[in-house]
This record gives sequence, C-alpha cells and structure tokens, in this order.
Amino acid sequence: MDPYEELTTTVRQLRCEHSHPCQPPEGTLFEPGPCKHCGTPWVVTTAQGMSEPLRAELAKLLESAAWWTKTRGMADRHALNVARVINGKTALR
Ligand SMILES: [Zn+2]
Repeated sequence: MDPYEELTTTVRQLRCEHSHPCQPPEGTLFEPGPCKHCGTPWVVTTAQGMSEPLRAELAKLLESAAWWTKTRGMADRHALNVARVINGKTALR
C-alpha cells in the first residue's frame, strides 16, 4: 500500500461509524467480523479505544498529511507511523 493510500485509508477508518457484524456467517457475538463500511478488523477497533473528539482530530491531521504526501510525492514519516499504529501495524523505524 503506498503512503498516500495508507493515510487516506486511516482517515476513512477514523471517520467511520463502525458496524461489526455479530451474526454468522460474518461474525459471532464473541468475535465480530470486520466493519461493514470500512473493513476494519474488530481487534483493531477494540484496541484503539479512542474518544470521538480524538478520532476527529486525528482524522484531520492525517488528512492534511495525506494531502502533503500527494502534493510532494513523499510521506511525512511521523504521520505515516501514526496511521500505522492506528491500523494495528508496526510503525516505520
Ligand atoms: Zn468502519
């Protein structure tokens, strides 16, 4: 996934009102499936545990980072790391 895509995916994810299915075959009550709107895995949603205001501000921050990434053709690595941590991936070193 390129950095721009990674940032915009995270923005979409932060702004999503997640809806995780808990009925088979998509998921169960104890292990809900990925969000029906954005595909975020349940484990990522629960691990985030962020308040709405924080999610909104992070979405703004990363949206502006995505714009810069597209304009300059290079990613802000701190913004990219924030996006990765939010998405349950490992940050860049
Ligand atoms: Zn979602």
